[in-house]
Amino acid sequence: MLAHTRVLSVERIRIVACPGRVLAADLVAPFALPTDPVSAVDGYAVHAADAGRTLRIAGESAAGNPFDGSIQEGVALRILTGGVVPDGADCVAMLEEVTLDGERVTMPPTLRAGTNVHRPGDDLRAGDMLVSKGTRLGPAELGLAAAVGCAELDVYKRPRVALMSTGNELVEVGGILQRGKIFDSNRWALLAALNEAGADVNLLANAPDEAEALRGLVTHALRTADVLVTSGGVSVGTHDLIKPLLESLGEVHVGRVKLKPGKPFTFATTPDGKVAFGLPGFPVSSLVTFEVFVRPALLKMQGSAQLQRPTLPVRLAFDASPNVDRTEYHRVTLRRDGSELVATSTGSQSSSRLMSLAGANALVRVPPGGQGIKRGTVVEALILSLS
Ligand code: AMP
Ligand code: MG
Repeated sequence: MLAHTRVLSVERIRIVACPGRVLAADLVAPFALPTDPVSAVDGYAVHAADAGRTLRIAGESAAGNPFDGSIQEGVALRILTGGVVPDGADCVAMLEEVTLDGERVTMPPTLRAGTNVHRPGDDLRAGDMLVSKGTRLGPAELGLAAAVGCAELDVYKRPRVALMSTGNELVEVGGILQRGKIFDSNRWALLAALNEAGADVNLLANAPDEAEALRGLVTHALRTADVLVTSGGVSVGTHDLIKPLLESLGEVHVGRVKLKPGKPFTFATTPDGKVAFGLPGFPVSSLVTFEVFVRPALLKMQGSAQLQRPTLPVRLAFDASPNVDRTEYHRVTLRRDGSELVATSTGSQSSSRLMSLAGANALVRVPPGGQGIKRGTVVEALILSLS
């Protein structure tokens, strides 16, 4: 699936729109920071040789307002945090360590050159790699870009995703449930998952299990979006119309997976390079297959260097029984026990039971057949979140 997914093009956008976007070119420091020697404290800029002496105060250097001139021995300059240390001075005596007497100030008995001076390049040097291509821009990354003056950044485009639920049983939230109907929950669950993955979502209305209507909606969606995500209609029932529809519009590369939950998951491409993910209708199946297959593809499209969730070793607090021939993604809640993470099952793993994902912060892969995984075993779990 990743091989069929292309990286989107690059756009230059204003920094205000950059949080969460993926950087498309290495950001290298064009100059050093700080640019000048600056004081790390409020105090007096002096020569270290003047330790213990009483000095005349020649003026002031405040943040943003440097002192014009240099400082000779026998003279002190009042300086505030962030103020430029003047030529001549080699250290700053902290305000708390000096004795003030009108326009004269007495230095502490010992001073060392360099003390309390933040030297040029201490924070970063010209040519340093600040943020590498493929990094999602979070607080530190955006702060670094701004610190070196970038008003605009080159980022990958966000994948435009058309999102649609299918099924005659679906009712819009806010509507009235009649016998045999259910509220459409998948679209909202998937909207949250898509937002987290950086997608630009076009939320489409629910589609009925009716071939011609579905064809019209899907064709239009694939014209206007990079990615189509549907839920429902991919099993083998007579009302399951997504797979044959995608077959008629392009090529279905995956029509079934040995995964629990999520067996009928479907992946297709169109001749013009669009990708379509047909997720199963059961709420847990749609979210787990999103997590395992769709999210990495969306991250690849955005040029992200990191496509997969991190894993951590966890100790199982339960016996995870295996499925006969499908890998199971068991949903677990993690807690700390000393230096270990302990994984507790979220209970019944039925694919209709959305509560098995609520509060789950990791997925444990249980291989098919055999003994499953015995309680007490340490396995690598896919970490969804640690909060
Ligand atoms: P399907 O894959 O279309 O056979 O759907 C399987 C089951 O998933 C349905 O019988 C519903 O119980 C449930 N389902 C399908 N679509 C949704 C949806 N959008 N929101 C909540 N549950 C759904
Ligand atoms: Mg259905």
